[in-house]
Amino acid sequence: MRGKAGSKKAADKPPVDRGTAAAVTVIDHPMMQHKLTLLREQSTSTNEFRQVMREIGPILLYEATRDLPLTDRKIKTPLKSVRAPVLAGKKLCLVPVLRAGLGMVDAMLSFAPSARVGHIGLYRDPETLKAIEYYFNMPRSLSARTVIVVDPMLATGHSAVAALGRLKQAGARTLKLVCLLAAPAGIDLVQSEHPDVPIYTVSIDERLDDHAYIVPGLGDAGDRLFGTKKAAKTSKASRRPAHR
Ligand code: URA
Repeated sequence: MRGKAGSKKAADKPPVDRGTAAAVTVIDHPMMQHKLTLLREQSTSTNEFRQVMREIGPILLYEATRDLPLTDRKIKTPLKSVRAPVLAGKKLCLVPVLRAGLGMVDAMLSFAPSARVGHIGLYRDPETLKAIEYYFNMPRSLSARTVIVVDPMLATGHSAVAALGRLKQAGARTLKLVCLLAAPAGIDLVQSEHPDVPIYTVSIDERLDDHAYIVPGLGDAGDRLFGTKKAAKTSKASRRPAHR
């Protein structure tokens, strides 16, 4: 079971200076809002959930890459020679946070086919609520790439903060965080721990519940994506034989 939301009381933390923290961009385009509603709906099947995640992923990436630096190159069109813009620097690095981040990364590669992909796996220690890393595999030259962390549910923010910290430790200097849904608490934590990292999301939801789920949210994104939701515990009387 998930631990309670937030390991620190708000009073223990200095207020986030929103004036200096990088921006939070909410992509409230009607098509995105519609797709998000499909994801939120409990009746949406695993198959449809996956499909909609794939549709949303590249659009989030499109927004997150708006400010990529350009240089220019001399090219010849069939009509004349011109200097034309091309992306400067090394390829992007997309970093899905396992598991739910996997639901968007493949589709993001249709928009940025040359991007490199690193993976980071974190789980939450049930006692301390701290994010513990169990997998970390990155391409070379992180310091020269724009690194885009894909963590669909920014809830308490602990896993995003840990992922961003670990990537900085591994050399990343330009980082962005892409999520599908964000809770105010998660945004505050990322902005206070990593004020240099801009956040892109489709919605800022109301709050976290006592189990650190985003409300109204969409439930457990990993379970909905991979169809791994466990059956609710039922009383003996209402249990049915498995072969029914
Ligand atoms: N992770 C999820 O998958 N859902 C939430 O609501 C919060 C964290």
